[in-house]
Amino acid sequence: MKEKLYTIPVNEAFDLDCECPVCVMRRNLEKASIEFTLGPSYMEDDVRLVTDRIGFCANHSKELYRQQNRLGLALILKTHMDEMIKEVELLAKKPALGGGLFKKKEAPVVEYMKKLEASCFVCKRVEDVFERHVATVFYLYEKEADFRVKFAASKGFCNKHYAMLYEGAQSALSGKLQAEFLETLNNLYLENMKRVRDDLEWFTDKFDYRNADAPWKNSQDALPRTLLKVNSIDV
Ligand SMILES: [Zn+2]
Ligand SMILES: [Zn+2]
Repeated sequence: MKEKLYTIPVNEAFDLDCECPVCVMRRNLEKASIEFTLGPSYMEDDVRLVTDRIGFCANHSKELYRQQNRLGLALILKTHMDEMIKEVELLAKKPALGGGLFKKKEAPVVEYMKKLEASCFVCKRVEDVFERHVATVFYLYEKEADFRVKFAASKGFCNKHYAMLYEGAQSALSGKLQAEFLETLNNLYLENMKRVRDDLEWFTDKFDYRNADAPWKNSQDALPRTLLKVNSIDV
């Protein structure tokens, strides 16, 4: 069972006090993938073959730049550029072929650039393992009563991962267990959205001079927690 491999990181994410344990799982994978990209691996031919070909998305390029391994990143990007230049030299001469009356065919070089923009070495590594992590949530929910308790005691999920778990449950779980999971998931989502919404409301109320001396309660970090709930971003 592949899922068994990932029970530790999944359990650890659900042990944390956070607004979305699935976001935590994903962020941890992203961190590991960034570290891997700028670790000793970039000197390995098989890794460089891939980074040369697919490159990085804008988000992860920024992330890689922030890591301060300037030489590593420069070496990776230099051979990626070599590859891009070679491809464009080859493709730019090719006209757009085919295409019917209603279907305009794209020029090969435009198609290449679009593909390049949509591909990312870091995203790809994250995506492969993240899928297994999500599958492990369902695996643990089905097999372990302790995990079901932990799941129900969580602070819910962000919009994206609520929908992901809802959709996933429809194929990963069945019968009574599926119904129970979905009910718990929906309750968790709504209760915790309302909790953060109320924190956010109190945060805005605190701007009123009449509340200047009132306690912050749980609202001091309500705005970053809201951004995580609504847009899955960690500010
Ligand atoms: Zn999330
Ligand atoms: Zn990426």
